[in-house]
Amino acid sequence: MIKRVSHIGIAVKDLDKGIEFYQKLGLELEGTEEVPSQKVKVAFFPCGDTRIELLAPTSEDSPVAKFIEKKGEGIQHIAFAVDDLPKALEKAEESGVTLIDKEPRPGAHNADIAFLHPRSTLGVLIELCKENKH
Ligand code: ZN
Repeated sequence: MIKRVSHIGIAVKDLDKGIEFYQKLGLELEGTEEVPSQKVKVAFFPCGDTRIELLAPTSEDSPVAKFIEKKGEGIQHIAFAVDDLPKALEKAEESGVTLIDKEPRPGAHNADIAFLHPRSTLGVLIELCKENKH
């Protein structure tokens, strides 16, 4: 049901600095986008068949701002691509995983996304992601 790693989400304080760093590292910037539902601005770097996704908070009450406050900058979530998001959520819940999102919501890149709670996933914030064409 899980097809591959869709992207790895990395929290940064300053998106421009983050972009500069990953460009220096040799990745190519695909684009940036604001995601109002998560109060973040994101930058995508394709890397093989996955992406690095930089997330910078656009507001102090953004979940990413809270993450940075608690843990500092760094890897914030791992997103797995699935074919059928509602079904994947149902299956996760059946197996005892706590869902942050019971229903899919709009994410960056025209995708439908839902998060699983880290307290039920051995400490990793996991995103399930149904990628859609633009
Ligand atoms: Zn994500």
